[in-house]
Amino acid sequence: MEKRVYDFTEGNKEMKALLGGKGANLAEMTSLGLNIPQGFTITTKTCNDFMDAGGKFPEGLWEEVLEHVETLEKTTSKKFNDLEAPLLVSVRSGAPISMPGMMDTVLNMGMNDQVAETMIKLTGDERFVWDAYRRFITMFSDVVMGLERHDYEGVFDKIKEAEGVSGDTDVSVNGLKETVAGMKYLYKEQMGVDFPQDPMDQLRASIAAVFNSWDTPRARTYRKFEGIDDKMGTACNIQTMVFGNMGWDSGSGVMFTRSPSDGSKGLFGELLFNAQGEDVVAGIRTPMHLSDLHDQQPDLYKELENIAETVEEHYKDMQDMEFTIEQGKLWILQTRTGKRTARSAIMIAVDMAEEGLIDKETAVKRITPGNIDQLLHPQFDPAAKEEAVLLAKGLNASPGAAVGKAIFNADRAEEHGKAGEQVILVRPETTPDDVNGMIVSQGFLTQHGGGTSHAAVVARGWGKPCVAGCEDIRIDNNRNLFTVGEHTINEGDWLSIDGATGEVFLGQVAKIETAFEKETKLIKALEWADEIKHLGVLTNADNPEDSVKARQFGATGIGLCRTEHMFFDQEGEEISRRENVVEMILKSEVAAPMLRQLEALELSLDDPEKKAEYDALKAKADSNEDIKKYKKALENILPFQRSDFVGIFEAMDGYPVIVRLIDPPMHEFLPPREELLEEVTMLRCKGDNPEELKEKEYLLSVVESLWETNPMLGLRGCRAGLMYPGLTEMQVQAIMEAAVEVKKAGVDVHPEIMIPLTSHINEMKAEHEKLKKVAEKVLKDADMENLKYKIGTMIEIPRAALTADEIAETAEFFSFGTNDLTQMTFGISRDDAEGKFLLNFVDRGLLPSNPFQVIDREGVGKLMKMCVDAGRKTRPDLEVGICGEHGGEPSSIEFCHQIGLNYVSCSPYRVPIARLAAAHAELDYPKKK
Ligand code: PEP
Ligand code: MG
Repeated sequence: MEKRVYDFTEGNKEMKALLGGKGANLAEMTSLGLNIPQGFTITTKTCNDFMDAGGKFPEGLWEEVLEHVETLEKTTSKKFNDLEAPLLVSVRSGAPISMPGMMDTVLNMGMNDQVAETMIKLTGDERFVWDAYRRFITMFSDVVMGLERHDYEGVFDKIKEAEGVSGDTDVSVNGLKETVAGMKYLYKEQMGVDFPQDPMDQLRASIAAVFNSWDTPRARTYRKFEGIDDKMGTACNIQTMVFGNMGWDSGSGVMFTRSPSDGSKGLFGELLFNAQGEDVVAGIRTPMHLSDLHDQQPDLYKELENIAETVEEHYKDMQDMEFTIEQGKLWILQTRTGKRTARSAIMIAVDMAEEGLIDKETAVKRITPGNIDQLLHPQFDPAAKEEAVLLAKGLNASPGAAVGKAIFNADRAEEHGKAGEQVILVRPETTPDDVNGMIVSQGFLTQHGGGTSHAAVVARGWGKPCVAGCEDIRIDNNRNLFTVGEHTINEGDWLSIDGATGEVFLGQVAKIETAFEKETKLIKALEWADEIKHLGVLTNADNPEDSVKARQFGATGIGLCRTEHMFFDQEGEEISRRENVVEMILKSEVAAPMLRQLEALELSLDDPEKKAEYDALKAKADSNEDIKKYKKALENILPFQRSDFVGIFEAMDGYPVIVRLIDPPMHEFLPPREELLEEVTMLRCKGDNPEELKEKEYLLSVVESLWETNPMLGLRGCRAGLMYPGLTEMQVQAIMEAAVEVKKAGVDVHPEIMIPLTSHINEMKAEHEKLKKVAEKVLKDADMENLKYKIGTMIEIPRAALTADEIAETAEFFSFGTNDLTQMTFGISRDDAEGKFLLNFVDRGLLPSNPFQVIDREGVGKLMKMCVDAGRKTRPDLEVGICGEHGGEPSSIEFCHQIGLNYVSCSPYRVPIARLAAAHAELDYPKKK
């Protein structure tokens, strides 16, 4: 028969799927020789069988549990209901993946009237025993029987009120005894039967409750958000109780073996004397920080330190542990890999590698792209903070800057968040029931609770800012407001919280970026990532400032320098670039056809007839005013572009710069049609400026002639170069002249010229031929023929991908423009679809993800792979990269690695993420020997 129950002595940490994280670790810690209260674990598989059977114990389970109870009674020399050594246990959930606070726990199980009397005799501590009993009744009624916890706490509150005290520990022994009696009375009233006295009845019901708690709405919501499989199930751990509330030489605590907040070394955690574990988390009394324990009880601190070292050495990761001190004896209740902030994750990974606990590869693997994203997230602008109204200061529970509207309830937060609003969830303290609202909030502010309170733990896990235990604020949940000093913050008012400092500000405080150069641990981790990765990481940048920034972030070149903006005006320039572009377009009506004809004739000058035709046309063209103006306009733009390239080449000294020639539809350079129509109509009505009217009418007629139904599929990309003679030649001349200039000045320059939107080899050939001529001429004139450059193309059109073998005959490199390639492969307009239907499709599961963010491997990806393979058949050393938005997205980067690209190129801010993701790809799918 299937084994469903394992003693802690039987399992190990590899058995997480079956025993849950907690169970597997309790077993592992037992074998490590740590002081663990013994017990046994019922498997996760049993939870699923229990669920499948509609909430019934599978056959044989109870008998197996009883056998393990017997073993436990032997190991502990205690017995349920015993008159000399009564056994009390905890019954806890424990899924394979930690779901903090999501499922149920029953403590002090086994307590009843008789056991209470026995324990009083044994310990002589009536207060402790009645307190344990009242806690058990509360938990059992709430968790196991589904009664209102509030009602039971109400019984205790009434006694406190009658005694005129507020703290739990201030209640008299008699008061505690009365509380127990009151709770039992209430139970009978609500359930119609006495509070169960038989520990076996209690145990059976508690196990069922733990299994049932796997399927509560809050647990389901949490799993959905975290992407945890519903089929995983939870294990159920039955463990001997040890008591932190047996007097002031007892206590309960939580400790992280390193700081989960910033990763620094040393114990981090809290300890509450004379209290049970739940008191620490609930924030009922303010716990002592472990750093204070160091001074007050150095021996105990040392013992904890030794344990921390043992478990870290064993688990090779930062651990989050719960412990109890029972009358001076230290017990470890659980250990698990500690959740941590991004900063902490990075520091711990790097430090552990430097300490030799893990290798560099493991360290790099432990840092997630999300960690970097979060670390480099904006923080508040110090100047703006200086000016902002500081409302209060709480605990800096989870770092980061968040701005949002104050919302006082989780459901409303969910509503606002889903409507796209920024929300700060403000609660007295959060509970797992608030998770739906927490998911959509920018950050959390709580009035109570410490660094290990629910809000703090969840915030750190999710990388959201949190200020906890902000006791200065007074929340009035009935009126949905809080007051602090003279201020009243109503629901919907703007708040800004700084989770790194615990500050709470009124209104919206401006944010700034994190200073990457100060993040030494991250920089170190990324250096390791660079050693590992196979892919190059370039950047998309089109000005010197972005190029410098991208280099700081670790980019090793520019994979896409868009040149569109070089046709628009820039501050401080005397001649308008834009006016010259407009002039060029206007004159192109006459000039372009004639120049194209000349270009065509130029190809057959050997034929005397053609030569004569050429000469005649050339003479005509040379004296044509429109052609003169057309050429002059291009000439005027050239020096500007040359100086733009000089700045970029200088910033990218030593690295390649891939410059994409003009790409957008030409009408984008002209005034909008509607605007012109209005102007023409006005001029016509007024009738006082016939000259301007004529000019505008002509401009309007050109705009109308350029009008396209589908401009993204129209006269753009290399097509513009082919239709406007001299346009891309001017750009190439600017690029090469700039290259020559900087090279003379000692810059190591590597220009690559990229032709956009190629669909047919003939387009490529035609552009390539004329551009090469220009480039060669510049180099020859400068006597710099050894300056290496390349001419290649973007792959943005499926036809280009399909005919890559032909295109590679001419193109010296490929770069996937996956924005257009996705648009054209899906036949979905990238400018319109996301807002209109695409995200809805993703929500409905029609598409697994937004294909403009994550590469669609099956469709677009398949084309890419075919293209790489075909291109390299023709040209084995063909350099292939990606410069669409996907180049900075981790899963797309993995795919690019898999299909053998040479590099990814992304915006400067995503460069660090791309470096890490590229290393992860190599670690998961090694390409290097
Ligand atoms: C692309 O299409 O992926 C690309 C990089 O070009 P753009 O986004 O400028 O069209
Ligand atoms: Mg494109």
